[in-house]
Amino acid sequence: MSATPSSTTPSTATGAAAPRLTVIGTGYLGATHAICMAVLGFEVVGVDVDPRKVERLAAGEVPFFEPGLPEMLHKALDSGRLSFTTDFARAAEFGDVHFVCVGTPQQRGSDAADLTYVRSAVTELARHLHRKALVVGKSTVPVGTAAELTRLVQEVAPAGAEVELAWNPEFLREGFAVEDTTNPDRLVFGVSSAWAEQQLRAAFAPVVEAHDTPVLVVDLPTAELVKVAANSFLATKISYINAMAEVCERTGADVTALAQALSHDSRIGGRFLKPGLGFGGGCLPKDIRAFKHRAEELGVGQAVAFLGEVDAINKRRRERTVDLVREVAGGDLRGVRVAAWGAAFKPDSDDIRDAPALDVAVLLQQAGADVTVYDPEAMDNARRSYPQLSYAASAVDAARDADVVVLLTEWRQFRAVDPEVLGAAVAHRRVVDGRHALDRDAWRAAGWDYRALGRP
Ligand code: NAD
Repeated sequence: MSATPSSTTPSTATGAAAPRLTVIGTGYLGATHAICMAVLGFEVVGVDVDPRKVERLAAGEVPFFEPGLPEMLHKALDSGRLSFTTDFARAAEFGDVHFVCVGTPQQRGSDAADLTYVRSAVTELARHLHRKALVVGKSTVPVGTAAELTRLVQEVAPAGAEVELAWNPEFLREGFAVEDTTNPDRLVFGVSSAWAEQQLRAAFAPVVEAHDTPVLVVDLPTAELVKVAANSFLATKISYINAMAEVCERTGADVTALAQALSHDSRIGGRFLKPGLGFGGGCLPKDIRAFKHRAEELGVGQAVAFLGEVDAINKRRRERTVDLVREVAGGDLRGVRVAAWGAAFKPDSDDIRDAPALDVAVLLQQAGADVTVYDPEAMDNARRSYPQLSYAASAVDAARDADVVVLLTEWRQFRAVDPEVLGAAVAHRRVVDGRHALDRDAWRAAGWDYRALGRP
């Protein structure tokens, strides 16, 4: 975090009292939002249907790994401005602006987003809304959802049309969640009235005042689309360079050098242009699928048909990484001892949703390899979801007597391993760098057979 946010009680630009906030759904997004808004000076009530989560947060424990967030939670609880509950009636009574942050995962057996949680959270809240209030969606949803929820809210709420709906898509990155929430690069307000805009401006006044954050006021469908359009662009950029990696693999060219050369063109830029194992997590994969699905429903599927290709390129990276380990191991994975470094979908997170690392570990095991996983933060989550894999207590322990070490999540501590020292622990000095994160020359100088996708 670059600066500690101020904790003075905020007021609106007109000097009116700051709105009281609730945050419905206290997962990664909601907990972060609730905590940061309380530190910024708002009175906040966080609501979740999971009593265990509510208890842990109320006791000062962040239920997931996010750098800087535990300190912020303590600060927020100490201020007396933050509390957590499972009681929707209490939240409805308390809040002026209600942020909806529940999950929108991929539906089982379909690419569509599952809106069950959003509908249920909004219905449960609306049932208790007896006075004018603003319900603000932050979850990532298919375009058109806000219009549907507006009808739902106004039908269910005792206050009827007094309750308005707005959309404020969230762009935070896990690993940078505090910084992204207190100092976002932009705020998008999807509104249908001047009053709703005023409420949102009041709710974000400390953020905008501190950082001169650009605010874009748009209609509801545009706000919904900004988020999926942004994620589609990022996913496309990653798959683009990974498509180039596939061509490099066939031609003997070096995709790392290619990416570097491309990055000097300021129109292209170097970010998200890193070749490797591709994207995963609880957002990008399901968001591009849900977007494509929604576009097809709307009759504009052709416009985003390329997202199917983006997804396919991304999935092929996982299989190709397994192929490369097999190749390095001599053509057969049966009985080969593999140290799998990483489980989280990216470093500085313990999130294993659609994690490429664990997908690869499972594929290696299914091909007969004896796989041992180590991750600095995601071990508990990985063990719970993948009990069939073996786990080690450290990176070096995982690599002990390994025939191949494969780097799957680019944690700083893996990059810092001395290849000379590690060489003494393994059976064979063979490394597959699934993230193009290791210093190839240093590993080769220490006698390792270093391999990475798209590099000769
Ligand atoms: P999550 O699974 O971590 O959290 C969802 C929370 O909602 C859980 O705590 C769950 O118990 C709770 N919940 C479910 N049903 C509820 C209900 N009816 N009432 C109250 N609470 C309920 O999910 P997340 O990662 O925080 O994502 C939430 C949304 O934000 C998704 O739409 C996601 O796409 C979007 N988003 C996430 C991130 C991120 O980095 N995680 C970033 C931007 C946007």
